[in-house]
Amino acid sequence: MKIAIASGKGGTGKTLISTNLFNVTPNSTYIDCDVEEPNGHLFLKGTHVKEQSFHIMIPEVNQNICNNCGKCAEVCQFNAIISAKQKVLVFPELCHGCGSCTFFCPTKAITETPKIIGKIQETLINNKPMITGTLNIGEPMAPPIIKQLKALPISTEHIIIDSPPGTSCPVIAAITGADMVLLVTEPTPFGLHDLDLAVQVVQKLNIPMGIIVNKSGLGGNIIENYSKKKNIEILLEIPHSKTIAKLYSEGKLITTLPKYKKIFENLSEKIQKKVKGFQNHES
Ligand code: SF4
Ligand code: SF4
Repeated sequence: MKIAIASGKGGTGKTLISTNLFNVTPNSTYIDCDVEEPNGHLFLKGTHVKEQSFHIMIPEVNQNICNNCGKCAEVCQFNAIISAKQKVLVFPELCHGCGSCTFFCPTKAITETPKIIGKIQETLINNKPMITGTLNIGEPMAPPIIKQLKALPISTEHIIIDSPPGTSCPVIAAITGADMVLLVTEPTPFGLHDLDLAVQVVQKLNIPMGIIVNKSGLGGNIIENYSKKKNIEILLEIPHSKTIAKLYSEGKLITTLPKYKKIFENLSEKIQKKVKGFQNHES
């Protein structure tokens, strides 16, 4: 099963859920796709086994061969290459390295050069893999590295994907292909607003989802009412607790405590049953 943990905004407890879920789920891999600020490693400490830089290929135009036909600008979905009057201009910070401009250039005026935008690390946590993508500071192009993380060969039965926060392209890259998305929220009007945006994105992608309420008890029944209205199950409510806040601030997993270990084991089993149910329903 491939489970993505997402949230409409940052700071709702997405990493708390994903790292603890990974800790109690046997035969699982944790992928930290929050590449602008990966923090799973603060809670999952292990041994680095691999590290590689990640690059995308950026076009370079030979103006002597270019006939200024404009085809490259026409095929670029990201406005990263424009055909100006005298010459073709490339904006590397907008380029996704998709290769379309090179492919379609009729005169073969475009070559590609690598540009390193981040790194990918593999760490073993109690013999289970954690894969972390880190985008270099100032690099805006998260989707290519997220796609690469998800394309790596993974041999474990379960994959836990810690998505970036928000509802934009990096989130879509992270949750696409998941069997289920867990949306983590807090019971406040702001939490509800961001949850609703995230629900709309997941619905568009047609992925089954469930809600996890963090710091429950803070804001009444606001999320319960929403989940009933939208018919999305609340899979877990984590109370607002000083113990959890303390462990989290110390970089410790809450599943080191038997009480929370049991709660997360139940969550893991519940999700596995649900995913099997969806898959049987589809086939
Ligand atoms: S497609 Fe090739 S020939 Fe046409 S403008 Fe772009 S670089 Fe020049
Ligand atoms: S490689 Fe793709 S994103 Fe980059 S300039 Fe060419 S068409 Fe645009």
